[in-house]
Amino acid sequence: MTLSNRSQIGYVRKLETMGMVDGPGIRTIVFLSGCPLRCLFCHNPDMFKTDPKDATTVEELIAKLKRYKPYYGETGGVTFCGGEPLNQPEFLYEAMKACHEEGINTVLDTSGFGRLNTFEKILGQTDLILYDIKGVEDDFYRKMTGVPKKVTDAFLETAQRLDVKMWIRVVVVPGIHDSIEYMDQLANMIAPLKNIERIELLPYHTMGVNKYDALGLTYPLEGVPAMNKEECMKLQEYLKDQIRALRRA
Ligand code: SF4
Repeated sequence: MTLSNRSQIGYVRKLETMGMVDGPGIRTIVFLSGCPLRCLFCHNPDMFKTDPKDATTVEELIAKLKRYKPYYGETGGVTFCGGEPLNQPEFLYEAMKACHEEGINTVLDTSGFGRLNTFEKILGQTDLILYDIKGVEDDFYRKMTGVPKKVTDAFLETAQRLDVKMWIRVVVVPGIHDSIEYMDQLANMIAPLKNIERIELLPYHTMGVNKYDALGLTYPLEGVPAMNKEECMKLQEYLKDQIRALRRA
């Protein structure tokens, strides 16, 4: 096995320690800056672009991540998110590989959009994917994100072929995703997939609005209210029931 290239440079905006929701156990969350998508419901527009100030090497990053190793225990570790972490494939791969060399578990929080020929290598270093589904049908997906769906389809296909475990996460915006029709589409997409350990619908919130103002950007969902949490929970139960029914059939 070749060792990771720890001089590889990447762009990391910040680290959050003691994370409890982005993967199992206690985790350090690594935010890689830069994202080629423009999701209508994105609450992190400040992560769209990389900044030279974010530059770091894998070695520098790993030195920080190792400090928190005592907290990771049996189940915790490091979660790479963004932005879109696949936007920095070489750095992501080397950083995940270095984590594994140090005995640290890796989670990748992603929309599945990146360079096709990098997926296999990166997924070979990924213990769990938090896979964000942003639309089922091509046109709808493109409207939500500004990019074609075939890339994330290829990512999903590679993840399934390599048997990587997955948690599925879907943001639900009222008036856009909160329909039985959309839940049925999701159920049809998810039911045939293997290695799915968890399915979560995430209620849309409006906490990102001020960030758009501060950046001088127009907020794409102006006037759309936050998603009601109980409604979202009901839709999640419906979705899970539909998936169970499809799997039994
Ligand atoms: S992939 Fe994530 S960071 Fe990128 S635009 Fe969509 S929600 Fe925002």
